[in-house]
Amino acid sequence: MTERSLTEYREARCRDIEENIKEIRDNIAEAAIQSGRNPEDVRLMAVTKTVEPCFINHAIHCGIDLIGENRVQEFLGKKPELDLDGVDCHLIGHLQTNKVRQIVGEVSTIQSVDSLKVAREISKQSVKNDLVTKILLEVNVGEEESKSGMPYEAVEDLLPEIAALPGLSVEGFMAIPPICEDEVVLRGYFSKMNQLYVDMKDKNIDNINVNTLSMGMSADYVQAILEGSTLVRVGSSLFGARVY
Ligand SMILES: *Cc1c(COP(=O)(O)O)cnc(C)c1O
Repeated sequence: MTERSLTEYREARCRDIEENIKEIRDNIAEAAIQSGRNPEDVRLMAVTKTVEPCFINHAIHCGIDLIGENRVQEFLGKKPELDLDGVDCHLIGHLQTNKVRQIVGEVSTIQSVDSLKVAREISKQSVKNDLVTKILLEVNVGEEESKSGMPYEAVEDLLPEIAALPGLSVEGFMAIPPICEDEVVLRGYFSKMNQLYVDMKDKNIDNINVNTLSMGMSADYVQAILEGSTLVRVGSSLFGARVY
């Protein structure tokens, strides 16, 4: 691309991002009200994987205060270029135990905790650095072999064990339901997650502060909010289609 067309491309993309954010916020507000909640009770996360720092910064200038990255390396590489003042950063992609050391202290929250093993390592590294890492338990709600996340049925037993670890604070759950066309089936997965969220909140397990149900992406965040989501993770509808 010539320099001029590159500038034009960037300006056009920035305008799109600004408009997309407005539209997504309107949709979130509408769905929240429809489900009997305040629009402020549903957080919008901008999912930034593959997105260049200049566009992430533009989204931040347009009011985005929560971003999510999938890969430790990609996030750490981009972080020095991001205007993160007042911005909350979460890791949302699968985390290998050997990467935990690098990410603890770099994000407030790890949403993708799917085993006792990785929780133990987050605990260990957090204690070592004298900090508390917030975590969400990722649940494989559709019981898909290809997906990460702990089995739905395992959560009740694992939760107290993970909650007892020092250096971490269990804040709730994250899920990615199977891709499905049938809206009734899709909402069934979200509703199943909401049931778990409400049940675990009511159990008053020591040391946990369940306040987040992270579900809903570009294609289905409205349905997720209607079923109780408190945090939607939106990438392509906000930044445009990803180019890998
Ligand atoms: C990529 C990703 C998203 C966002 O997906 P879109 O469909 O682009 O909105 C949300 N959550 C996780 C865990 C992701 O990996």
